[in-house]
Amino acid sequence: MSSTTIIGDMQKDRVATKYVKVNPVNPEAGPLAEGGLILRRGGLVAFPTETVYGLGANALDGQAVAGIFKAKGRPADNPLIVHVASLQTVDELVSNVPFVAKELMKAFWPGPLTLILPVGKAVPAEVTAGLNTVAVRMPRHPVALGLIRAAGVPVAAPSANTSGRPSPTTAQHVLNDLAGHIDMVLDGGPAGVGVESTVLDLTALVPVVLRPGGITPEDLGRVLGTVEVDPQARSPEQGEGRPRSPGMKYTHYAPRAQVILVEGQPEAVTAKIIGLAREYQARGKRVGILSYIDSADFTNVGEVILAGRRSQPETVAAELYAALRRFDETDVDLILAQGIDDRGVGLAVMNRLRKAAGGQIINV
Ligand code: AMP
Ligand code: MG
Repeated sequence: MSSTTIIGDMQKDRVATKYVKVNPVNPEAGPLAEGGLILRRGGLVAFPTETVYGLGANALDGQAVAGIFKAKGRPADNPLIVHVASLQTVDELVSNVPFVAKELMKAFWPGPLTLILPVGKAVPAEVTAGLNTVAVRMPRHPVALGLIRAAGVPVAAPSANTSGRPSPTTAQHVLNDLAGHIDMVLDGGPAGVGVESTVLDLTALVPVVLRPGGITPEDLGRVLGTVEVDPQARSPEQGEGRPRSPGMKYTHYAPRAQVILVEGQPEAVTAKIIGLAREYQARGKRVGILSYIDSADFTNVGEVILAGRRSQPETVAAELYAALRRFDETDVDLILAQGIDDRGVGLAVMNRLRKAAGGQIINV
């Protein structure tokens, strides 16, 4: 007699993912209402924000939020950002809004700034990973704002990628990672900034940037006077002990091929990349090079993908994740990535590249 054991039923775990195009400037009411209803009922909806695409669930529903972790394969101890469409909602999520938070909201919301504040009672532990703080942000993208309003609840949303992969900046990136695991994707075209929001901790004695992002320390300085940048936000690979932002301890933003980051004076970086490329090629490796429109020409050195202009870090931020994902469509074994100046949004770009490199960083 034979017997069959079924170990997991992949088919059973899959859901139909509805894909809907929306106007990014004036989103149609129909898809927003449908997405809002799905969220209210405990489902998962991916949507564009001005930073990257987010994967949303009702932030007040612990079970719905648990679905985000499952779909992404995200470690349960990495808390989520709660997205709001009004300042009143913040009062329901946090136990206290300090004066400095109000000033920052006035200056930068809606926009790519996430504030860490003391958590209120309404927020389930799934959102905060059990911390006594909660991350809140009001996004600027009309589709994100419209969806949150239609849902009528605050929306917990990390980036809509499989955990560890580069964040999605298009709806296609979201589908590549999560089709069959989420209920809906609203396609509002490419996200704008291209890297995630700045995470600012307001529960310490002085405000601290835990993750650099769309709002730069220079921007924050104009409101705060001085702002501290957590050493791990600058150099994630050099961190000691427990990071203050749980998410910073995980390998992140990484394409499938190994990344080696080369930083330093541009001419020296170019020479080093050419040398390394030759070395690896001699060992039979296929080499990719992440470079920029206004950098040296590496066409004869390896498979080159250009991510914006290094002299304009915003353009690199906008192109970075798509470039890293494009390497996955090639057969390169390793990627030699050129560093850029870590001024302005360049700090966020370098934070992501340093994390993608997972410690394989060469300073020349
Ligand atoms: P993601 O939305 O995928 O970009 O990830 C959200 C980021 O915010 C992660 O790096 C989290 O660790 C961080 N974060 C969320 N909530 C908190 C919190 N309460 N305290 C510190 N960091 C947080
Ligand atoms: Mg993420």
